[in-house]
Amino acid sequence: MTDTGSTDHVRATLPTPVSTASFWHSEPSEFLFGHRTTDDLPAAADIVIVGSGITGASIARFLAEDERAKGKSIVMLEAREACWGATGRNGGHCQPLLFDRGPEVAAFELKNVHAVQSYIEAHNVPCEWRSVSGCRTFWKEDLIQEAEEAIKELKEAAPDIGKMVTIIKDAAELAKHRVHPSCTGATLTEGAASLWPYKYVTFILEKLVKEGILNLQTTTPVTSITSTPSTFASNNNPPKPLYTLHTPRGPISTTTLLLATNGYTSSLLPSFADLIVPVRGTMSALLPPPAATLLPNSYGMVGALDQPKTADDYLVQRPYSGVPNPAAHYMFGGGRGASSLPCIGVSDDSVLDTGAAAYLRTALPKVLDLGPDSKPGDELEAVQQWTGIMGYSRDDHPWVGAVPDMPGVWLAGGYTGHGMPNGSLCGKAVVGMALAALEGKGEGVGEAMVDRGEMPRAYLISKERIERTRRLPTVEVQDLQGGFRV
Ligand SMILES: Cc1cc2nc3c(=O)[nH]c(=O)nc-3n(C[C@H](O)[C@H](O)[C@H](O)COP(=O)(O)OP(=O)(O)OC[C@H]3O[C@@H](n4cnc5c(N)ncnc54)[C@H](O)[C@@H]3O)c2cc1C
Repeated sequence: MTDTGSTDHVRATLPTPVSTASFWHSEPSEFLFGHRTTDDLPAAADIVIVGSGITGASIARFLAEDERAKGKSIVMLEAREACWGATGRNGGHCQPLLFDRGPEVAAFELKNVHAVQSYIEAHNVPCEWRSVSGCRTFWKEDLIQEAEEAIKELKEAAPDIGKMVTIIKDAAELAKHRVHPSCTGATLTEGAASLWPYKYVTFILEKLVKEGILNLQTTTPVTSITSTPSTFASNNNPPKPLYTLHTPRGPISTTTLLLATNGYTSSLLPSFADLIVPVRGTMSALLPPPAATLLPNSYGMVGALDQPKTADDYLVQRPYSGVPNPAAHYMFGGGRGASSLPCIGVSDDSVLDTGAAAYLRTALPKVLDLGPDSKPGDELEAVQQWTGIMGYSRDDHPWVGAVPDMPGVWLAGGYTGHGMPNGSLCGKAVVGMALAALEGKGEGVGEAMVDRGEMPRAYLISKERIERTRRLPTVEVQDLQGGFRV
């Protein structure tokens, strides 16, 4: 099934004021909770960012690091508390996918992970960063065969990246990685990591606010955007449209608007309703059995326990040293195939999906060796279970660049549940484009970034890409047909 327009697609709603309680929010930033840098919402700003997840925080960070933004007023609007969307509710897994979407994307994702890691090391960010190998387990013959084919292609096309991936099919080798012997095969990928994503993002935001660079306005949802032709021109440039963002606290105007709204994007940009579709995912923080030791890898499970291949499960383990939360929780997400509620097209994370949640409590002892006092059939104790909203992209690539027919408006989002190894440099890319445009040098800057290898071509927003994407089946249909793997 294909369709050609967006009008019959359901738009995302605004982030709900109430949401399920994520474990990652159990140690909220005292400084940022309820934070509004100024009591009143400024009436105008040179640059406005909407959204305070990994993308919004990266946008703010790269603006701060760019001379061209010096002296410009920057306001960030967030509907909820800071980092209370997907980034504050995700799996904490920062894994570049090396053989799924081609070498260009693989190289970009590796660069993203490096960008996150080097920031964390440079600033000593206390966010439980742990470098691991990503062990993706496949539970059906055709699924591992598919992976083997893709890895073969990768090794031919990009040998340097290809050598970072190993295939494991031997039962003894699988056992070393604590994978149950009934697994058909696994891939081991270098360069993955786990982290406490909320702590990483709030570190960035807190620093920028304290340095006086960012005016952060939490609990300030943007309900709509209107535009009027601007009456002023700068640097001999033609006048730009002036955008007014409407909020319950009053309006704020800007000529440069950066949207970091991911799954919620179509609540503000209706024309993206069929391109970035909200999808509700379920997460859990589980207590390991008492005799368990730290797992050696992060894990993905494809087609395990009769889950459809489009609904991977994903697992990282927190280190044992965390204080005051020392339990080395299994941070385990997925279970979409066991959902008791609809997931696709859903932008409400105020309810728990009890079917997916029950699956997550019982799946791990069946697929991994969790130590001497664990057996299949056990149910792990959940410290917390919650939901969050991802943004599935209809062509499986993020949307990064200028929003068509809205000069001065930029978007980075639509990561199909895979934003941790994408959001940072996608944020940097839109900063580069927006600042070039502010200097009157915006023409072709996205293309130039692609040519310089700074962003995959597939990510760049264009009218041509939108038209091409609208000829693909809808997100819902692709999911049913097995097109998405998250
Ligand atoms: C359950 C779950 C598990 C996941 N696991 C992983 C994983 O392990 N690894 C991985 O790579 N990815 C994972 N993801 C995906 C990843 O979390 C996202 O791709 C990434 O966090 C997107 O970051 P973002 O900053 O673009 O969006 P978000 O973090 O969602 O931030 C968008 C922000 O915009 C705000 N906002 C939206 N609309 C408005 C508005 N109108 N006005 C004001 N504010 C607004 C929202 O409140 C939100 O805070 C998971 C996602 C979920 C939900």
